[in-house]
Amino acid sequence: MQPSFPALADTQDAAQFGVADPASVRRLRQLVQDHAEALVAAFYDALLAHEEARAFLHHSVVQERLSPSLRRWLIDLFAPEVDGDEAAFVARQVKIGEVHARIKIPMHLVMAGAAVLKGRLADVLVCDPAAFDLLRLSGERIDHALRLMSQSYEKGASNRARLDEAYRLFSLDQDIHFERESQRAGLMEWSQKTLFRILASGGVEGAGALSASPFGLWIRHRADFLFDGSPHLARLNAAMERIDGELLPRFTPGAASSELVGPLEALEAAVDEVAFLLNEMFQGLAGMEGGRDPLTRALNRRFLSSILSREIGFANANHTPLSVLLLDVDHFKRINDTHGHPIGDEVLRQVAEAVTENVRPSDFVFRYGGEEFLIVLVETGLRQAAIIAERMRQALAAKAITASGLAPFHVTVSIGAAEHGGHPDENYLVKQADDALYRAKQNGRNRVEIA
Ligand code: GH3
Ligand code: MG
Ligand code: MG
Repeated sequence: MQPSFPALADTQDAAQFGVADPASVRRLRQLVQDHAEALVAAFYDALLAHEEARAFLHHSVVQERLSPSLRRWLIDLFAPEVDGDEAAFVARQVKIGEVHARIKIPMHLVMAGAAVLKGRLADVLVCDPAAFDLLRLSGERIDHALRLMSQSYEKGASNRARLDEAYRLFSLDQDIHFERESQRAGLMEWSQKTLFRILASGGVEGAGALSASPFGLWIRHRADFLFDGSPHLARLNAAMERIDGELLPRFTPGAASSELVGPLEALEAAVDEVAFLLNEMFQGLAGMEGGRDPLTRALNRRFLSSILSREIGFANANHTPLSVLLLDVDHFKRINDTHGHPIGDEVLRQVAEAVTENVRPSDFVFRYGGEEFLIVLVETGLRQAAIIAERMRQALAAKAITASGLAPFHVTVSIGAAEHGGHPDENYLVKQADDALYRAKQNGRNRVEIA
C-alpha cells in the first residue's frame, strides 16, 4: 500500500515527519494554483531545449492537449478532493503511466520533466514562511505520483514488448516465399518505371522516390519485424536514402544521352545493392520458414526461450500450473539406416502430426532437436501432463506410418514429463524433463517417465 497524501494530519507520514499543518496544506494548494501557468511554461521551456523530448512535444496537437492536462494534473495533485480518495488518485497516475508507455516516452524524460516542476515549485515555495513544510509536502506528493506512474509504465512497456514479439511470430508465420517474391517484384517494377522515365525524358518526373513506392512502404512497416536487428536492413535503408536523395536528382529532363551514362550506372549499382541486401535478409529467414520448422511444421527452437519464459512468468503471476514434455523417437537411427534419410524425414513429419493432434491449440510444439520434440502444456499440472503424454505415446505406437514403396510400419517414442515448480529459469524445467526422458530410455523405451 502506498502512503497516502499527508495532507490529512493523522496519516502515518504526517505523524512521522511531524504534523502536516492544515494551514500549510491550504497554502500549498493556493500557491500551486496561482503558479500553475508559470510552472507548465517552465516545464515546456526546459523540455523543448532537450532534443529527445522535443520529438514528443513539438507537435501542436500535443502542446494543445498536454498544456491543459499537465496543468490539471499539477493542481489535482494537491486538490482537496483527492485526499480521501486514494484509489482515484492511483487510477489517474496509473493511466498516465499507461499512456506514456503506449506512446513510448522514455521514463527518464518523464523524470526530467518532474524534476523541472519540482525545481520551479521550490523556487516559489522557498519564499513562504512555512517553506520547509510546503517543500516536504509537495516533494512527497509528486514522488508518490511518479512511483505509481513508473510502475504502470513498466507494466505497459513489458506488455508492449510481448505484443511485439507475438506480432513478430505472427509475421514470420506468413508466407515468406510469397513475401520475398512480391518485394523483389516491387523493387524491379520501381526501377523499370524509373529507367523508362529517364530514357524517355532524361528526368525522373512522375516516377517518384523509391522510399515512397510500395516497396519502400513495405520496408518501413514490415521489414523491422521480419529482419529484426539485421545489419543488412540498416545498409538497405542507407542505400535507399542515397538513391532518393543523391542519385535521382542527378537526372534532369532534356539531358543528352551521353550525360546519362554515369548517373545510370550509379543508379543501377545502388538498386542492385538493395536487391542483394533484400535477398540476403530473406536468405537469413530461409530454413526457418516463418518460425516453423519446414519439415515438421513444429515451432522453431529459437522461439523456445521467449515462449517458455513468458509462460513461466504467467504461471508464477497467476498461480497456474505449467508442464513440459520432452519426446524422442526410439531407435530412430535404425529407420534412417534401414530405409534411408528421406523415409526418416517422412516419419518425423508424421510423428509431429500425431503429437500436434494430441495437444490443445493453446499448447506449443517445438522441434527441439533432430528427432526430439518439446511440448509446452499450458495450465497443466503434472498428473494431467502424464495422462496427455501417455495418450500421445499410445497414439504414436498405434499409428501406422505410411511411406511410398513401404508397407505401413510403426515407431515408438519415449517421453519425459516435468512440471514447473516456481523456478524462474526455463532451462531448469527443460533439464528436469530431459532427465525423465533419459530414465524412460534407460527403462526400456516406449514409455513415459515423470520428473
Ligand atoms: P534412442 O532410442 O536412444 O533415441 O536412439 P536413436 O537412434 O533415436 O537416437 P540417436 O540420437 O542415436 O539418433 C538420432 C538420429 O536422428 C541421428 C540423426 O542422424 C537422425 N536425424 C536427426 N535429424 C534428422 C532429420 O531431420 N531427418 C532424418 N531423417 N534423420 C535425422
Ligand atoms: Mg535423440
Ligand atoms: Mg531417438
